[in-house]
Amino acid sequence: MHNHHRALGLASTPSNAFTGFDIARQRPVNPVTLVRPHAAARAARFFAEKFPGRSMYAVKANPSPDLLRILWDSGITHYDVASIAEVRLVARTLPEATLCFMHPVKAEEAIAEAYFTHGVRTFSLDSMEELKKIVRATGEATDLTLCVRLRVSSEHSKLSLASKFGAAPGETKALLFAARQAADALGICFHVGSQAMTPEAYTGALERVRAAIVEAAVMVDVIDVGGGFPSSYPGMEPPPLERYFDAIHRAFESLPVSYSSELWCEPGRALCAEYSSIVVRVERRRGAELYINDGAYGALFDAAHLGWRFPVELMREPDSRARDMAFSFYGPTCDDMDHMAGPFLLPADVQAGDYIEIGMLGAYGTAMRTAFNGFGCDETVVVADEPMVSLYGDVFREVATNVVTL
Ligand SMILES: *Cc1c(COP(=O)(O)O)cnc(C)c1O
Repeated sequence: MHNHHRALGLASTPSNAFTGFDIARQRPVNPVTLVRPHAAARAARFFAEKFPGRSMYAVKANPSPDLLRILWDSGITHYDVASIAEVRLVARTLPEATLCFMHPVKAEEAIAEAYFTHGVRTFSLDSMEELKKIVRATGEATDLTLCVRLRVSSEHSKLSLASKFGAAPGETKALLFAARQAADALGICFHVGSQAMTPEAYTGALERVRAAIVEAAVMVDVIDVGGGFPSSYPGMEPPPLERYFDAIHRAFESLPVSYSSELWCEPGRALCAEYSSIVVRVERRRGAELYINDGAYGALFDAAHLGWRFPVELMREPDSRARDMAFSFYGPTCDDMDHMAGPFLLPADVQAGDYIEIGMLGAYGTAMRTAFNGFGCDETVVVADEPMVSLYGDVFREVATNVVTL
């Protein structure tokens, strides 16, 4: 009898105001995305106020224009974009935002459009080839901030980003030197991998940065510690984010960089994981396997392909009194790979027709939906209750003023 009475507000678009929505009466046939603007705003304010430098949002985690506007209104002024479509989207949605093109391998046409049409001045690179491309595409511009991406370990992260990008130790000296010649401001960036479970991921990477600066003997103006800040999932509960910020701040302060140098970060997941959850319907039960109407090709890519668990909750009224048991999920497509092993703990009497809320899908969940096999999600509902889990302060799942008894 705890948290199954939460209100669902239905709105025709996510920017509309909260209105009552009764899931027992509506019985949606397709999955419904719930969005929580207040949760994204809280995460943004947390980074804007507490990170000891500049926080830019990594747009790929969730490019929803509504979310972009919420983050902007909550103090996030800089955006890490990785494709020309993301550049155009943010430029259109937030005309005053500062864009940083942080994909180390870009199309020359994309660099030129970003620079000449959208005013982008910050670019990342991890090779001489890319440096030449940027110089050429910007007409040998003299107002560039160039961030050299170093390859760092992903050993503390749940999702590696260690093999695809980043200059290796043997390459950094020449590259930093060449980038220094071409840049107005020189930065060093890295990505420790997503869902970094300890601050040591960052302090270890900053040791690599120190070695690179000392070896190249160049003046560095920007240190960008990238993304990787964690959210909380079942079985992956990280230490408080303040510990990450403190460790990064201390390591940054001890680097051999100029007094006026800046510290940046690029959180994706941490800013938007709590923004969305989905409501799915059980279409069939086979023992401990539930066939639900969303899956690997919908918002549950990470549950299927990385084996991640997400918080789940049976939305039944009155509450089930059955004890929890472990379930796995099958998604709606005809593909065997559309399988989420979990385990997901739900009352043992779950049956076809029941609705389940799956939480923490605001990052790399709703953004990765496809329409494969004709399954999708067309409804988004704004809700004002708390996400199932939050890293940001004392959180109570029920917000009294918005509780509607179903
Ligand atoms: C994906 C990505 C991010 C965001 O990573 P999170 O783990 O979601 O914080 C930041 N910077 C770059 C360059 C990325 O590719």
